[in-house]
This record gives sequence, C-alpha cells and structure tokens, in this order.
Amino acid sequence: MTKTNRIGIVVDEDFATKNAPPYPHPIFLSYENPLRIGSILNFLEEKSIFLNERIIKLKPVSVEESVLKLAHTKYHIDSVRNFSNRGFGLLSEEIFITEDTYELAKLAVGGTIQAIDSVLNGNVDQSFALIRPPGHHALREKASGLCIFNNIANSIIRLKDSRQYNKKIAIIDIDAHFGDGLVQYFYDDPSVLYFSVHEFDFEQGDIGFIDELGEEEGLGKSINFPIPLNSTGVDFLEIFDILEPVLNEFTPDMIIIAAGFDLYFADPIGNGKLTSNTYFKFTERILEIANKICNGKLIFILEGGYSLIGLPHCILAVIKALLGESYEQPTFEKLKFLTKSEKENIDKIKKSLKKLLADYWTSLR
Ligand SMILES: [Zn+2]
Repeated sequence: MTKTNRIGIVVDEDFATKNAPPYPHPIFLSYENPLRIGSILNFLEEKSIFLNERIIKLKPVSVEESVLKLAHTKYHIDSVRNFSNRGFGLLSEEIFITEDTYELAKLAVGGTIQAIDSVLNGNVDQSFALIRPPGHHALREKASGLCIFNNIANSIIRLKDSRQYNKKIAIIDIDAHFGDGLVQYFYDDPSVLYFSVHEFDFEQGDIGFIDELGEEEGLGKSINFPIPLNSTGVDFLEIFDILEPVLNEFTPDMIIIAAGFDLYFADPIGNGKLTSNTYFKFTERILEIANKICNGKLIFILEGGYSLIGLPHCILAVIKALLGESYEQPTFEKLKFLTKSEKENIDKIKKSLKKLLADYWTSLR
C-alpha cells in the first residue's frame, strides 16, 4: 500500500545556534545546548529526509508576550526578558540565561503552536517540532529543570482560550523525567489526559508517584507510569498495556507526545537503556492507535535528550516510523547489556496502576 501521509517538521537554524550555555563542559545545565539541534539537522540532511516529498519543512513564528501570559506569570516572563537584556545570568541552579534566551524560548513556544496548528488545519497529517529549550518542567511562575516556558501547556491553553477549541487532547510524556510542570496545568481538567512514563528511583524516592491521579473533574486523567532505573526498550514498551486501552476509551481529538529522548542508553542525564529502535517501535504503535482513534493526528514536541551521538538516530527513527518505512538500527547500539530486563518490577507497577485506575477506566477493570 502506498503511504500518503504528510509529515511537518518544524525547524529553524536559530535552535542550532542560539542560547548556548556559558559553561561548555561538563556541568549539568550545559547539556541543553545548540549542538543538540545542530546534530539532528545535519543527520537528517545526510539521510536526505528533507528531499522526501512527504516531509514538509515548517518555519516557526515567534509569539507575542500575550501568548506567554496564558501560561505564565508576568513576573516570570519579565525575569527571563530582563536577564536576557542584560546578556547573562542564572535564573536558578539549572537555568542559564544568555542574550538570546528570551527570543529563542518564545520561538520554541511558536514552533510548538506551529506543529499543532498545522496538523489541526490539515496542512500535514503528523508533525514534529525540533525546538529548544524544552518545556515540560517549566511552571507558571518559574523556569525549572532546563525549561524556560512550558511550550506544550502554552500551546494548549492558547487553543482553548483564544481559538475556542474544546475537544479532548491526550499528552504522552516519554521524557526520562516526570513532567512536573506540564501535569499541573491540567490536573483538574477532564479534557486533557496526561500520561507520563518516567524513570523512578524506587529506593531513594522520586517525583511522579503512581497515585497522583488528578483532582476533582480531572481525577483519573493524570496517569503516571514510573519505571525502574535501567529499564530496557522492551520494558518501556510495556506502557502500551495501560496506554492503549486508556486512549481507546478516552478518544482524544489529537495526541501530543512530549518527546524526550533521555531514556536513551547513552544519554548523559537519563538512566534508561532504550535504543533508537525503541523509539521507532513506540512511534509505530502510537501512530497505529492515532490512525484508529483520531484520524492520525499525532504531534511530537521535542523535550529532553542530550546524547549528541544518539539523539539524531532517535529522531530519524521516529520520522521513519511516521513515514511507514523500515528502520535500520546502528550497529553501535547492539549491545548485550541493553537486554537485561526489569520486567518483574514493571509487572508489579502495571498491576498496581491498573488497580488504581480501574475506578476511572472501564477498559482496565
Ligand atoms: Zn528529561
């Protein structure tokens, strides 16, 4: 069967050049840097992705401050702008500011809006926003965890507030870290499902507990699937046992993936053992579900992912799956240690989660 779906890729050279950390190596905050996007774009060019007629390059348009205000306090927005105007600064331990941070963070929100709008208005069938800085840790009143503005929350609230969009949206957050910013915006909103799979330190404790289910009208619409450190790709894909029935029952109008790639085995920050092939398989399955329940409306928004060698392969894997093409995993990923499974623990988590969610989802009873 000939595939006809068209995929929009939001790209802008600014993401590959601006907002460079003041400290090159090796402190934590310096991992969020322009090389992430530069390495992706080079690789996609080399693989002739942009020559494919089903791939549509989309250029993001920046947003006005009024859009930022939908999801953030005036004080937070002013802080980022003022620091940027000054040219440097640390907004918190994990947030550096440069002279172009404010502009680039606004462009990241614009890129997210572009990716979502172009799918909603039918210009493309699926999309992927290759933007930075990431957004899912950003809170209404402050930047956090390498994130300045909450790209996805901002875009959804704009749709609801100024575009009178009142359909259901599913967010699936696959970043290694729990989206503690993103979840808060929709904690009581029954029209937005937030499903997060994230690494969880079961010995030391962590954020994103299994029993944080939302509140009031939104109860049952926040789902946390914590996985043990060192989970493999096969372990990760177990999320579909919960995710698939929930999506089928929820029937969203579109699916947004908070696409972090820091569960990748070689990521310097995350602790997973996933390979690019895991992201290929994930995308194949989620696309199949999207085709069934929401006319294929599926949007990827880049969050974390800091391995400059692995990240481009992961992005290519996602795009190949969206295109319906095969994917050849690079040889350097074929390592034996990546197969030692956490399945026993994953099964326990799945069982507890099903029990908790059964009150809200008939398909899990
Ligand atoms: Zn992360």
